Amino acid sequence: MKISDIEVIVLRQKEAIQSIGDSTQDAVVIKVHTDEGLIGIGEVASSPYVVEAVINAPISKYLCCGLKKICLGQDPLEIEKIWNDMYEQSSWFGLRGAAIHAMSGIDMALWDIKGKALNQPVYKLLGGAFHNKIRAYASVLFPNTPEEIRSMVKDYVQKGFTAIKFGWGKFGKVPRDDIQLVKAAREAAGNEILIMVDAGGCFKDVTLAIEQASALEKYDVYFFEEPFPPDKISSLAKLTQSTRLRIATGERLATRYSFEDLIVRGKVDIIQPDVGRVGGISEFMKVALIAKQYGIACIPHAWSSDILLAATLHVNASIPNGGILQEFCLSGRPLRKDLTKIPIQQKDGYISIPDRPGLGVELNEETIKNFRINI
Ligand code: MG
Repeated sequence: MKISDIEVIVLRQKEAIQSIGDSTQDAVVIKVHTDEGLIGIGEVASSPYVVEAVINAPISKYLCCGLKKICLGQDPLEIEKIWNDMYEQSSWFGLRGAAIHAMSGIDMALWDIKGKALNQPVYKLLGGAFHNKIRAYASVLFPNTPEEIRSMVKDYVQKGFTAIKFGWGKFGKVPRDDIQLVKAAREAAGNEILIMVDAGGCFKDVTLAIEQASALEKYDVYFFEEPFPPDKISSLAKLTQSTRLRIATGERLATRYSFEDLIVRGKVDIIQPDVGRVGGISEFMKVALIAKQYGIACIPHAWSSDILLAATLHVNASIPNGGILQEFCLSGRPLRKDLTKIPIQQKDGYISIPDRPGLGVELNEETIKNFRINI
């Protein structure tokens, strides 16, 4: 079997676009075609337009080549070799960031092909699932008022969730208001529900972050996510050593090298790689293994369509330091929920690991037709 084409499908809502917090105003789906007719699908969690350029760029110099050119004619089952070819031959513009994001989508599609070719779900190819379902957490943005957050908590609990994360939005503007929101969420949730807080990298100074973490300890916040922008490694280390809260971060980072730095120097408690950004399924597994060696938990980031969610469930279930929680984006937008035929749903607060061959999700071509903006 040979790779015969790589298709980059850029999707975008037709209405005027502002930056929407749920990150589903646009999306990029990768289709890897083979000469035997098998097609693998993947998704990249990045700028669709940049990803398109990285994949379709013609060869420039040996270390500066578009990813499609590198993959054409290769055996799609030789995933590790293809990954390393892409990594090396894009290294002038790659190594981290957009090139690794684009590689993530191709890698995901290759695992989908491998699963379909061998008639096995991806988790089996990764060594087997430690869990057949994972506790889902509702992942939403902070509202403006304590009244709103109370009613949101009640709504999610009624839907079956036993864990909820509130992210950025209003958070980080007025410290006292932030604490009032979390206090209201905890009061509405009672003691049994996990509450998490995502600061979205808002803190400019470590002292304030330490003060806020200390105030949040009182409300039993399960983890405190991304207090600082991704490169503030020494700030993370100072905060981690000053609070009882678990500090979680890593959604913006790519490759094992960034994560090793985050773990060793940043001393975080939980890493949050996004399989659509970190370098795909192959790289996610290596990142998780490094974390495991340091005794660090892995709670993957996933805030896009069910293609990404399916890939995330396979890896989250297949690592010994995973299976703790699965992020579940509650956006109702079409690119979040209609990109695949059968939506992945939570039941009683848990999501099952897809059991069909490959990633176990099928593209909804109708949605592709309605939202595709490139040819
Ligand atoms: Mg986040």
